[in-house]
Amino acid sequence: MPHTVIEKPLARSSAPYDVAAVREDFPVLRREVHGKPLIYLDNAATSQTPRQVIEVFSDYYSRYNANIHRGLHTLADEATAAFEGTRHRVKAFLNAEDARQVIFTRGTTEAINLVVQSWGRSQLAAGDEVLISMLEHHSNIVPWQLLAAERGFTIKVIPVDEQGALDMVAYRELLGERTRLVAVNHVSNAFGTINPVKEMAALAHQHGALMLVDGAQAAPHQLVDVQAIDADFYAFSGHKVYGPTGVGVLYGKQALLEAMPPWQGGGEMIKAVSFDSGTTFADIPHKFEAGTPAIAEVIALGRALEWVESIGVESIGAWEHRLLEHATQAVSQVEGLRILGTAPHKAGVLSFIVDGAHSQDIGLLIDQLGVAIRTGHHCAQPLLHHFGVDATCRASFAAYNTLEEVDAFVAALNRVIGMVR
Ligand code: PLP
Repeated sequence: MPHTVIEKPLARSSAPYDVAAVREDFPVLRREVHGKPLIYLDNAATSQTPRQVIEVFSDYYSRYNANIHRGLHTLADEATAAFEGTRHRVKAFLNAEDARQVIFTRGTTEAINLVVQSWGRSQLAAGDEVLISMLEHHSNIVPWQLLAAERGFTIKVIPVDEQGALDMVAYRELLGERTRLVAVNHVSNAFGTINPVKEMAALAHQHGALMLVDGAQAAPHQLVDVQAIDADFYAFSGHKVYGPTGVGVLYGKQALLEAMPPWQGGGEMIKAVSFDSGTTFADIPHKFEAGTPAIAEVIALGRALEWVESIGVESIGAWEHRLLEHATQAVSQVEGLRILGTAPHKAGVLSFIVDGAHSQDIGLLIDQLGVAIRTGHHCAQPLLHHFGVDATCRASFAAYNTLEEVDAFVAALNRVIGMVR
């Protein structure tokens, strides 16, 4: 078989973190950019891909490329088993109750759109309220705005304090009998703030509201337990968790998913189609997976999660925290540099601006020195505007970054600032 179904995560190692061994798995880290060794610090946008995941594509297309679920031949069986194997792995990764609660999407954005278009469209009307937060990525803002414009419900925004942490007093005040759903990210991509989603879900449930957690930035860095959080929906993307682009996951509570209408129609999502008596729909998860999915990508996502589990997501998170502390300390010495997002609980994201230097210029010039960081609004314009800026520079860390890379990044930053000031 090309891929085995593994329900339980692999045993986690208690050995010290071996970043050199981790780096060995990433071919891209051996390349140079503008004649300099690549220092890749744009991991919050997309993480790099280990060879074990890359190999899935050549293996799949060389040996068992076939459409899933509908074939009776060997290749179709193998592809189906590998595809469904990922569903079981995601179930274990998120600690979902049942693999049928795992729906494959194109990414976090599509997962949120699924909830908006299926649950939201069938449930929300004028007078209802959806709470989102100031920290949201556009993908957890715009889909709600689009539907609100049609259906007339109200979107309310949980504010942040000056450190970029959610204002929990304001959150409690915003919750009320009209609140139908709270949708927040687990970790902010712009500032790295880790949000207290478990506490927030408990409060939402006390008011009879559902809780959607955008886990795009959490799944790669910390253990996610959807049952412990008591999330009604949880979304994440493959390409931020060492997997490929074009694939992501929506987890949902079973009763909710079963009650929700399909949002896209087509093959794979039906029980029977008739011109006379209409169409009946497949059970979950297939009801929400119309058409041929990204088969190789889903299989590769399973391999990526297996890779993460072989290192241990908690070990990865602890290592990234060390990198973050080291980087925070080092950039604090840079004259005129201000960090945005200084909440007490943060993941490995460092957002900053520098007096007298435009973020865009810093990003372009530091690339010439081999360092990849992100500059711009990070798809979080309301948050940045709230802090009075249009753009920041953002360095974000992953399993393979080193303390030496952080030092080289800060040295490069100092050089660049010297050039533009
Ligand atoms: N939510 C957060 C917090 C993100 O950081 C991102 C991507 O940067 C997304 C959602 C959207 O993810 P995708 O583009 O993979 O759908």
